[in-house]
Amino acid sequence: MSDAPVLVIGAGLAGLAAAVELARAGLPVLVADQAQTPGGAVHRQPLPGVRSIASPVQRRRWAGLMADVQAQGTRITLSMGTAFGGVDHTGAVLLTGAGARLFRPRALIVATGARERVQPRPGWTLPGVETAGSLQTRLKTLAEAPEGRVLLAGSGPLLLALGAELARLGRPPVAIVEAGRPLSHPIAALGLPMSYLREGAEYLLRLKLAGVPILAGSHLAAIRAEGGALVADIDTPKGRRSLTVDRIALHDGIASNDIGLPDCPALPVLRAGDCREALGARAALADGRAQGAALAARLLGQPQPAPAPEVARQRAAQALVARLHAHDGASRLAALPGDTVICRCEARTVNDLRALGPDPTDRQLRLDGRFSMGPCQGRFCAEWTARLAAPDTPKPRLGAPRWPARPIAIADLLATPDETQGDPA
Ligand SMILES: Cc1cc2nc3c(=O)[nH]c(=O)nc-3n(C[C@H](O)[C@H](O)[C@H](O)COP(=O)(O)OP(=O)(O)OC[C@H]3O[C@@H](n4cnc5c(N)ncnc54)[C@H](O)[C@@H]3O)c2cc1C
Repeated sequence: MSDAPVLVIGAGLAGLAAAVELARAGLPVLVADQAQTPGGAVHRQPLPGVRSIASPVQRRRWAGLMADVQAQGTRITLSMGTAFGGVDHTGAVLLTGAGARLFRPRALIVATGARERVQPRPGWTLPGVETAGSLQTRLKTLAEAPEGRVLLAGSGPLLLALGAELARLGRPPVAIVEAGRPLSHPIAALGLPMSYLREGAEYLLRLKLAGVPILAGSHLAAIRAEGGALVADIDTPKGRRSLTVDRIALHDGIASNDIGLPDCPALPVLRAGDCREALGARAALADGRAQGAALAARLLGQPQPAPAPEVARQRAAQALVARLHAHDGASRLAALPGDTVICRCEARTVNDLRALGPDPTDRQLRLDGRFSMGPCQGRFCAEWTARLAAPDTPKPRLGAPRWPARPIAIADLLATPDETQGDPA
């Protein structure tokens, strides 16, 4: 039996749960994460000396998982500050950063979570405009809300959660602009699991007590910089209104962060958690366990375990959440002014896209247009570029697997110890 470790990319709920199952089956596991501390999106840890703002439910879940990790002793090695670069056709994996190495693990579990979707709007690249996820990171790591007037806009339950968190920290947002109408379907909402209803009710109560208006069925159409502040032009069901604020956090849902992760014939590669299917924290934990157990059984030649019922439950709940937040916001893309930036990395605009002519090929979009070619490798712009370039035809494959999965400096490549030398593969 090979003594090479199974490599798990991502020390969030899914990655760590998978690592525990693999270690319980007696397999050595290396967990690599580009962040400095484990936790992922939900359990992001505060900076040293800062109190945690996590809820009691979150604290219990995280403490339980970390106890499981610690119980496995040396069978699980955590390599923080270590990024996954890619895997080649021989099964050689490149890690960069603190735990840099080029080596052949026994198998690979990719648990890189979800990415935040942010639909382009005029002014969305102005200073003071960020994603809801980045503002949430600030709250979790620093336990403080930013000063000044904050507007949350887009669509999805994260906006309500973030608004409630800002209110709890004493600085509620001036408003939440939600494209859907999640509160207009109370009977349908009763189909959600009790834990969702309790969480949602807590958020709404906190927002109500703080006097935060929720502008449902409304779209943040454009953002302008004026006199040191930001002016948000909002299309509401009653017409356009403008709000002057200091900071805007945008969020249009989440999607799997699996762009650029190739399939590899030379070693088993499984995906786990939000990276496989973005279904939230409860599903990520259950799916991590299930994928870890499935891989362990495969490597040890044992029968495959049954699928995790919790993942199916969360899939149904998330589908209902999506229906409650449904809106036609994407149709607004076609009306974007020509100078709206689509690709932030390379500052490519709607006009740059139109200059490629009707129905550009993926190759034209990438090589001539430079869309989806910057450091984010299309994670943020590929979806919008594809929708704008060919609204009526199937999506171009702008987010197709690529190696490396993220830009890597030549100096880092040269400094990486190569442990594949002399290996027969
Ligand atoms: C911005 C944002 C905010 C969210 N907030 C909430 C919330 O408040 N509540 C909630 O229930 N759910 C939230 N979610 C959903 C959340 O993704 C899941 O509920 C849960 O965190 C998924 O767990 P996971 O282990 O699959 O992924 P994650 O917890 O996201 O963990 C993935 C890990 O992979 C690492 N990683 C990614 N790429 C690489 C790479 N190339 N190399 C090395 N490491 C890498 C990341 O650093 C991260 O630690 C949020 C999602 C996003 C995108």
